[in-house]
Amino acid sequence: MNADTSSGVERFDAVVIGAGVSGLYQLYRLRELGLEVRVYERGGGVGGTWYWNRYPGARFDSESYSYAYSFSDELLEEWEWSEHFAAQPETLRYLEFVADKFELRRDIRFDMTMTGAHWQEAAREWEIFFADGSRVYARFLITAIGGFATPTLPAIEGRDSYAGEAYHTAQWPHRPVDFAGKRVAVIGTGATGVQVIQEVAKTAATLSVFQRQPNWCAPLLNRPITPEEQRRIKAGYKQIFALCNETFAGFMHQSDRRNAVEVSAEEREALFEKLYGEPGFGIWMANFRDVMIDARANALLSDFIARKIRSRVNDPAIAEKLIPTNHGFGTRRVPLETNYYEVYNQPNVRLVDLRETPILRMTPSGIVTTAGAFDFDLIVFATGFDAVTGGYSRLDLRGAGGRRLVDKWAEGPRTFLGLLHEGFPNLVTLVGPHNAATFCNMPRCIEQNVEWVTRLLARLRAQGRTRIEPTPAAEDEWTAHVLDGAARMLLTKVDSWFNGVNRNVAGRDLRRFQLYANGLPTYRRRCEEVAAQDYAGTVIA
Ligand code: NAP
Repeated sequence: MNADTSSGVERFDAVVIGAGVSGLYQLYRLRELGLEVRVYERGGGVGGTWYWNRYPGARFDSESYSYAYSFSDELLEEWEWSEHFAAQPETLRYLEFVADKFELRRDIRFDMTMTGAHWQEAAREWEIFFADGSRVYARFLITAIGGFATPTLPAIEGRDSYAGEAYHTAQWPHRPVDFAGKRVAVIGTGATGVQVIQEVAKTAATLSVFQRQPNWCAPLLNRPITPEEQRRIKAGYKQIFALCNETFAGFMHQSDRRNAVEVSAEEREALFEKLYGEPGFGIWMANFRDVMIDARANALLSDFIARKIRSRVNDPAIAEKLIPTNHGFGTRRVPLETNYYEVYNQPNVRLVDLRETPILRMTPSGIVTTAGAFDFDLIVFATGFDAVTGGYSRLDLRGAGGRRLVDKWAEGPRTFLGLLHEGFPNLVTLVGPHNAATFCNMPRCIEQNVEWVTRLLARLRAQGRTRIEPTPAAEDEWTAHVLDGAARMLLTKVDSWFNGVNRNVAGRDLRRFQLYANGLPTYRRRCEEVAAQDYAGTVIA
């Protein structure tokens, strides 16, 4: 298996799509294995999500040092994070540093958008197509496109007639955008909207936040890393990664073994208060273990957070609009914030509650709601993504017998380990649907994904095998395992991208669980069992 350019066509052992956190690491590992690998990346540089999401305020919700790659001691020693939760420019610099250090760029082609791939059974390879009309062939096709490859604009009548400046947060310009003195609108109040609102409010003449549903936000409490902390972080990397690998979603926050409904009110309040005062996702991930599964426990936590919101927003009527009433804390992705609620105490900021006054249309000068017309100089669309499966829906991916992946997933994703696909031999989806990496401190799960896939490819190569495909029974069993695990979670009872709901995209109004909610330790154990049984559940040929 070697790159073959003799006939003018390029052939690889593996083609990886995407040069973000997962694509870069997969390239490093497969090259180490001696395979001919090529990465194709849609953007003009490495970084994936950190390349695209350049909006002001973009930063980690993971502790920086828990997000770092763990595979190279040298890299851990060389790189220094400046803040506990680094901002996007620093994370992008980090990924560029990784690409340079390991000389990854020579095997990456930028500005190459994959449009589809067709499995060629006779040759046992994928024929891969690009937007520029070119094609290459690869024995293995590894998608490393992440869960947020497809930004979605709001489906609002007249949207494209708007004549002012307008940007989706995931398609942000590569130059500074100035808000000073401008009338700015932000549509969307998810994790992205919350981050961008905090920044825009600092300089905009006026900021109007168009909120369809509020989310439960909690303090990030970011600060610079002191030299003493830097020393402790470097000395403690092993323990940091060990802790992450034991937790449900790969963060440095282990859930409390007690149940909120079984402890005294004082004990409960004490833990809520402690976690609210600590940086990062502790309030979500280190809380009582029943808050994500028992509606009574969740209501107690939601009530605590609601009181916090009321205490931070001066106008009681605005505070109530910012408190979710249709879902409990943590059942949608929790945005972490820095003075987000205090923004609504500023005289230049206005909250437009779209449940009271829905948007009717957009015009060349702004937005019309049932309360009237509002003119803007600049509109920020923080309206999210066709998450997880959306990146695949837009690809013409055809497996054995010309079967299309979109058809296979028409009723919801079906996979084996969120990585392999019956009917689609030699297709590997890193961070694919029903993969632990969809609900994770990404690099922790990505390293697991990549290392598992690398061992699989090494095994196939050692035995001269060229084809792997999971059995329908193994896929049924995995899908049942994913859905059973999800059924107990409150987050499956709520509309969000977790469940594939995005009303800006036709056909995405039904809930189809896209994540993996059995936790990283269970996921890793399942993957290890499969490998230990010589890839039981697959047919290798
Ligand atoms: P999102 O969570 O899907 O939020 C989209 C927002 O836009 C929601 O508030 C939604 O309202 C609103 N919206 C969509 N269409 C609309 C319309 N037609 N009219 C009015 N409002 C509309 O997307 P996101 O905030 O970009 O976050 C996506 C994910 O990216 C996050 O959950 C997180 O996993 C990741 N992320 C991570 C970080 C980080 O790690 N630091 C930062 C940002 C994002 P509804 O709620 O009513 O639908």
